[in-house]
Amino acid sequence: MEKIKGLETIYSSFAKETQVYRDQGACQKGCGFCCTDAGRIDTTTLEGLQIKKAIENFPRARQTSLAKALSKNIRKREKKENHPCPFLLKNMACMIYQVRPFACRRIYSNHVCNRENPPQINRNVMDMAAQSIRELQQLDDTGYSGHISFVLHMLGTPAFLETYLAGDFKPEAIMRFGKSHGIIINKMMI
Ligand code: SF4
Repeated sequence: MEKIKGLETIYSSFAKETQVYRDQGACQKGCGFCCTDAGRIDTTTLEGLQIKKAIENFPRARQTSLAKALSKNIRKREKKENHPCPFLLKNMACMIYQVRPFACRRIYSNHVCNRENPPQINRNVMDMAAQSIRELQQLDDTGYSGHISFVLHMLGTPAFLETYLAGDFKPEAIMRFGKSHGIIINKMMI
């Protein structure tokens, strides 16, 4: 619970500090540009755990279709292909908006985006985001960071989940998957 509070503090501090920049941005509800041709969407295991809990509260039919979308996303990202985020709804809303990871919270754009004009973010916001990422990794010091569908896959593995929830640190247990999927050991980044 303490770590979840820490997560919320990091999110809200960043939102407060960057409000003035984001207010000047061009982002509009229903845009979804950043989510439709999405590459790596980084998530810490602590954030992933919050997302996992949200998924468990979805209706069964949505859980089933999401499991298929996450598997497809894993295959696409293993080939380093961009792909719409599995959490993006048809109306361009995010189905996990309340628990979306920091990677999604930090992004905004000074102009309306298209393929030729990807998001443009103020340098100060990027620096503040880098600091928040360090704080997130410090908070989740027995955990890992990586693309959202890879981290959810790890948390869906009973042995990994048990170790992580117990606060144990056994990177050797995920070494193979971690190396092949670009998983970062948070402890190494602190
Ligand atoms: S988690 Fe939500 S906000 Fe983030 S890329 Fe996916 S749909 Fe977009």
